[in-house]
Amino acid sequence: MNNYWNKEIETMELADMKALQSERLVKQVKHVYENVPYYRDLMDKKGVKPEDIKGVEDLHKLPFVTKDDLREAYPYGMLAVPLERCVRIQSTSGTTGKRVVAFYTQEDINLWEDCCARAIVAVGGTKDDVCQVCYGYGLFTGGPGLNGGSHKVGCLTLPMSSGNTERQIQFMMDLGATILCCTPSYAAYIGESLKERGYRPDDNKLRVGIFGAEPWTEEMRREIEDMLGIKAYDIYGLTETSGPGVAFECCEQSGMHINEDNFIPEIINPETGEVLPDGEKGELVFTSITKEAFPLLRYRTKDICVLSRKKCSCGRTLIKMSKPMGRSDDMMIIRGVNVFPSQIETVLLKEGYTPNYQIVVDRQNHTDTLDINVELSPEQFSDTMRDISAHEKKLASAITTMLGITPKVHLVAPKTITRSEGKAVRVIDKRKLHD
Ligand code: ADP
Ligand code: ZN
Repeated sequence: MNNYWNKEIETMELADMKALQSERLVKQVKHVYENVPYYRDLMDKKGVKPEDIKGVEDLHKLPFVTKDDLREAYPYGMLAVPLERCVRIQSTSGTTGKRVVAFYTQEDINLWEDCCARAIVAVGGTKDDVCQVCYGYGLFTGGPGLNGGSHKVGCLTLPMSSGNTERQIQFMMDLGATILCCTPSYAAYIGESLKERGYRPDDNKLRVGIFGAEPWTEEMRREIEDMLGIKAYDIYGLTETSGPGVAFECCEQSGMHINEDNFIPEIINPETGEVLPDGEKGELVFTSITKEAFPLLRYRTKDICVLSRKKCSCGRTLIKMSKPMGRSDDMMIIRGVNVFPSQIETVLLKEGYTPNYQIVVDRQNHTDTLDINVELSPEQFSDTMRDISAHEKKLASAITTMLGITPKVHLVAPKTITRSEGKAVRVIDKRKLHD
């Protein structure tokens, strides 16, 4: 399966890509410096002028921009074109605080939808597909982005938005959806709901799923693939740089190709800001070199991952990012140990439990506590009832091996943990309430 939406870009030689990026970067820096006072101040403070940026090799000279900057400049402070040229806003989900709004010109939307079209074509999508989009529509970028990409490819697009799972299933079955787009946690919920209605994995016509907007593990991928009888692919993006489609997975399923002609990625040490070489884990930083209305230079995503230029069997030369293991914000420090929810998810699914879990962190007598509620499937529920505490101990010990600290595990009855139709909320940190 070697399908490209834009073959020339997607298979471009590295030297040509660097030249293209350099040309666009120089233009973008000038555009931003001239039109966004907030940026001009940041650059002046750092003592860097647009003339100092001659190509990608000078990228490191530019100041970083953070979500806090965007919150400070809210709502119009980062706008780089007259408002009359803007045709849309989208907004972040507000997962980590006050929402940020991003602006788009018609050309910005065009390029964004192109990125989503690349993602759909990379997993074999064509105009013969029926593409069911159940990411939320509206301010959230998931629905509009994939909707636009699906239109470009020419798929029959089902603009379902999220929620109303009964109707999702009815349309999926009646209209014979072949591509499913939603968050991985919602895909798992749809899979579970199909099973409850007596459908087997091969009763649906789905071939592939394009899932993103939240961290998910390889184990979760396998679980969803089995439940729905599909191949599940990752897609990554953030509102600040456009939305989904900043990076997308190809048939190799081993990391996501970044649309480098639009976004230059860097990995930095989150503590020092030092740029790290490819292959090292750190915080992902993006510079958007084609956006007109809301261009961001060196935007710190807080997402933790690794970049790689290893040759990909799909033929694309675009750099790849590993699945983000979560945001630096998601990282919990429990009794001095760094813990990501995705590490816990890996163990749960490996041990045969459902992807329905919730992590509760608290502090008692000055010591952090970690409780993990894990939902049993109906079959497990009847089987394990007799020796539930033995199972809890076994799972707790597997998690201890992974994390280095011991949690309290509670196996809970089916249907007791709230399902997610969008981004799942996995962690309740009660320490924040006390502090
Ligand atoms: P918010 O930051 O408020 O959640 P967005 O809706 O713009 O706003 O979400 C973007 C964020 O979602 C990314 O920065 C990243 O943390 C997360 N994300 C998006 N896609 C993925 C993915 N495929 N894997 C892991 N995390 C993802
Ligand atoms: Zn590839």
